[in-house]
Amino acid sequence: KRRIPVLDIMIDAVTMAEAVKIVENFIAEQRTRFVATANAEMVMMAQTDPVLAGILNRADLVIPDGAGVVWAARYHQYAMPERVAGYDLVQQLLAKSARSGYRVYFFGGAPGVAEQARTWAEARYPGVNVVGVRDGYFTAQDEPEIINTIKLCKPDILLAGLGVPKQEKWLTKHLNELNVPVAIGVGGTFDVMAG
Ligand code: UDP
Repeated sequence: KRRIPVLDIMIDAVTMAEAVKIVENFIAEQRTRFVATANAEMVMMAQTDPVLAGILNRADLVIPDGAGVVWAARYHQYAMPERVAGYDLVQQLLAKSARSGYRVYFFGGAPGVAEQARTWAEARYPGVNVVGVRDGYFTAQDEPEIINTIKLCKPDILLAGLGVPKQEKWLTKHLNELNVPVAIGVGGTFDVMAG
């Protein structure tokens, strides 16, 4: 895959089909990978948040989530095949889970939202394997228990919707401890799924 700079943030020039394949390879390889979904808001935030910028530039995959980043890349004469929305990537992965059994954990959103998103996903993707859910409102004291619970659920894919940049910082900080093959920052995806 080719990385393209948008305001010094490196974004992968991948199609949806390629992004799904890359995530499936990450699952097969069983290391700990972090996937970011970059939109204009995130790229702008990274201009004044060097920690976020560092996280994005070290991420294992950065998908072009927003029309703005696709436009900016093309404006600078880089070939960016298509927009790969984080929400759409999640839907593709849930459909794969229903077929291949991938274990998925939903972490984030207000109390009840991830649970509702799970109910919605189970109706839309019969057989989808959502192994656990947890809302995204917690204190530092709650973190050991959250991490333990996620570890016990052994997800292949950890979806974290805690907002930007909290989800990126939380996931990269705890990734090794969590020992999940793939963690993805998904913003407000659970809210959309919960309706
Ligand atoms: N959120 C959370 N914990 C927090 C703050 C936010 O779980 O401490 C959730 C919030 O409920 C919402 C998501 O993070 O589901 C942020 O959604 P938004 O669309 O604002 O995300 P963005 O992708 O724009 O950061």
